[in-house]
Amino acid sequence: MDSWFSFKRWSVRQYGTPLYRIPVDPGWGCPHRRPGETGRGCSFCSVTSGRARQLGEDPLEVITQVERAIEFSRQRYGEGVLQLYVQAYTATFASVEALRRLVEPLLESHDFVSLSVGTRPDCLPPSHVKLLADWNQSVDVWIELGIQSCHNATLINLNRQHSWEDAVKAVGRLRERELHVCPHLLFGLPGETSDEMFETLDQVVNLQVDALKLHNLHVLRDSPLGFRWSQQPFSVLDETAWLELVMQLLRRIPPDLPVFRLFTDSPPEERLAPSTQFSKGEFLTELSRRMTERSWCQGDLWRPNAKEAIRVDSRSHL
Ligand code: SF4
Repeated sequence: MDSWFSFKRWSVRQYGTPLYRIPVDPGWGCPHRRPGETGRGCSFCSVTSGRARQLGEDPLEVITQVERAIEFSRQRYGEGVLQLYVQAYTATFASVEALRRLVEPLLESHDFVSLSVGTRPDCLPPSHVKLLADWNQSVDVWIELGIQSCHNATLINLNRQHSWEDAVKAVGRLRERELHVCPHLLFGLPGETSDEMFETLDQVVNLQVDALKLHNLHVLRDSPLGFRWSQQPFSVLDETAWLELVMQLLRRIPPDLPVFRLFTDSPPEERLAPSTQFSKGEFLTELSRRMTERSWCQGDLWRPNAKEAIRVDSRSHL
């Protein structure tokens, strides 16, 4: 019995088989900076903005990226259903027509059961939301929303240039259109206490989102925070401290809310701090071991508040 509701468990429950993500990077940049530009943007974000490693470093035609990623997925993981993931930077920063031209041919030419789009709370114009809602009639459309924290002082420190209130409005508008929302949250930020981190989690859970991705701060070489760290190193949660914290976070998450990610995975050559990180296998094994040993599981500290008690989920897969 898993101690938490993982992406894999959720996808097998939803589709009867694992769901594999096929990343594409259209290279559109984001409201903060153009692709490859350094010295600007959110303080934690590196110049590659999380571009999938299997895409390599060369700019590739999108169709080549997709074919390469499907081959990689089949060889590494075997059979399963596929999700097209418009990843890296801000996918809704392009015009609605550019987004349509990118996505529709890929949905038509490949057997995707789902589409996931990464974006920011302040980058969801009505035209884009409508297009996403239209696609949601034929494939399951997920919006991966970079919220990071509910504390505006933290968002200012991170140079996010959007507020918590923007995030609340964005989630509301996406849910109105029955789009699936997966916020990205960032923990271990300089200046945030554990109570503040738990508050972020509680506030986001109360927005009735459909999944969560939890990240721990990694200070990356080609990021504004990396520059600051090189001038004057500051304390960052190490792998063991994050493991302990993420267990406490999981205990406060409703047991039926899938958690699609539990840690940041950055290439060692790009990471300045923490100096080491568990491999994915080591991290998950150790997490399971400690949770089981302590008789902890996802949601064992979660108590529905009044808002949670009337949680209505018309999407039966969750
Ligand atoms: S986190 Fe997103 S919005 Fe911020 S700089 Fe990176 S790609 Fe741009």
